[in-house]
Amino acid sequence: MFADLHLHTHFSDGTFSPEEVVARGRQAGLVALALTDHDTVEGCARMTAACAAAQIEFIPGAELTAEYEGIELHILGYFIDTKNPKLLRELARFQIVRQNRIREMVARLNERNVPLQADAVFALANCRAPGRPHVARALVQAGHCATHDEAFERFLKKDRPAWVPKAKMSALEAIELIHQAGGLAVMAHPALNRADHLISNLASAGLDGLECFHTKHSASAIKRYRAFAEQFHLLVTGGSDCHGLSKGKPLIGTVKLAYEHVEKLHAAKKQRAVGVAALPN
Ligand SMILES: [Zn+2]
Ligand SMILES: [Zn+2]
Repeated sequence: MFADLHLHTHFSDGTFSPEEVVARGRQAGLVALALTDHDTVEGCARMTAACAAAQIEFIPGAELTAEYEGIELHILGYFIDTKNPKLLRELARFQIVRQNRIREMVARLNERNVPLQADAVFALANCRAPGRPHVARALVQAGHCATHDEAFERFLKKDRPAWVPKAKMSALEAIELIHQAGGLAVMAHPALNRADHLISNLASAGLDGLECFHTKHSASAIKRYRAFAEQFHLLVTGGSDCHGLSKGKPLIGTVKLAYEHVEKLHAAKKQRAVGVAALPN
């Protein structure tokens, strides 16, 4: 029995609908799926229904853009209450920050005589958490670039003319936000963020787990992060980080997390609930 705990839909920068993600997960024989769209939980309601219909376990989640000591980190929240008022308030605030970043990127493109309009990006993104992939698609659609990759290479990659740094919440805030919404906080794809030296401090600050299995983790990275997880008593998670078909083949089903890790997440979640209930008022 296997799970995929890192998936995106068109509610952030993926191209699949929640229903398509579930259908693909079912085809891949997965028994549990988590939705982890960037800075939004909007897709969770439809994922819940689609998973129920397909008899697949669903874990509501989100991937929060954060930073710690100047390094960008993505913090996954699992089992979060998607109606938690503070979580929704913070996500809404963050969505405005993301939209302003798009406007800034478009302004920089305009300065370089690329006549793209922010509204074209928003219309194409059709979600509250727009990001660079949407700007890339808009550039391709308007004929300014031949491919998504070209858009990144010429304009959108770090230090290219239209690149705008991302505003991020601190990783400590992200962990706290996830915890107060009843969830577990997991550091996503640590190998992509060169964040090994931060794991110890974040574990002391309440981080619950480490995403050891990920599409871009080599066998040696998996080994290294499993050792870190053991050393710092962190849960082990994993997922494909599938964004749909935008970059060739879909990744869902290519990273399979053994279900025993999902059981450990359930146990930790239960323990956390007991711990919170036992706190003095
Ligand atoms: Zn990420
Ligand atoms: Zn992701």
